[in-house]
Amino acid sequence: MKHDDCIFCKIVEGTIPSAKVYEDDVVYAFLDLSQVSKGHTLVIPKEHTRDVFDMSSDLAAQVYARIPKIAQAIKTAFDAKGMNILNNNEAIAGQSVFHMHLHLLPKFNEGEGFEAIWKTNEDAYTSEELETIASSIHTHIEK
Ligand code: AMP
Ligand code: ZN
Repeated sequence: MKHDDCIFCKIVEGTIPSAKVYEDDVVYAFLDLSQVSKGHTLVIPKEHTRDVFDMSSDLAAQVYARIPKIAQAIKTAFDAKGMNILNNNEAIAGQSVFHMHLHLLPKFNEGEGFEAIWKTNEDAYTSEELETIASSIHTHIEK
């Protein structure tokens, strides 16, 4: 279902312009205006979906099935050396547009954007504590 106040729904329907990279029945891919690196692309489900928590596994499978060919096209187009694929969910995690999207960020050089401030806490946990955390998550995975 389309959301009237969603800019990405408007991009899908064409009432807001975008630099389209790819489109099929499930996804729409277009350049992120911010171009953190050259070719920075957003891939979105056409169906309005707020974030990963609002996404069915079926839709996730269909969306992600499209990612390799889009990623490969970006890599080939600009001879990228690597790529970050990331998705922010909720404002606390940096989401600013509340229509699910995957960022495809080709990497060309050391020190480009989206070098996350990745503070390691490796020393803060024993392997037993890691097992406990993993098992707590596992318990909540739906069968
Ligand atoms: P996020 O912070 O993960 O929600 O990312 C939202 C992204 O959407 C940002 O990187 C913006 O640059 C991008 N964005 C917002 N409006 C547009 C637009 N009209 N066309 C292309 N990209 C956009
Ligand atoms: Zn939307």
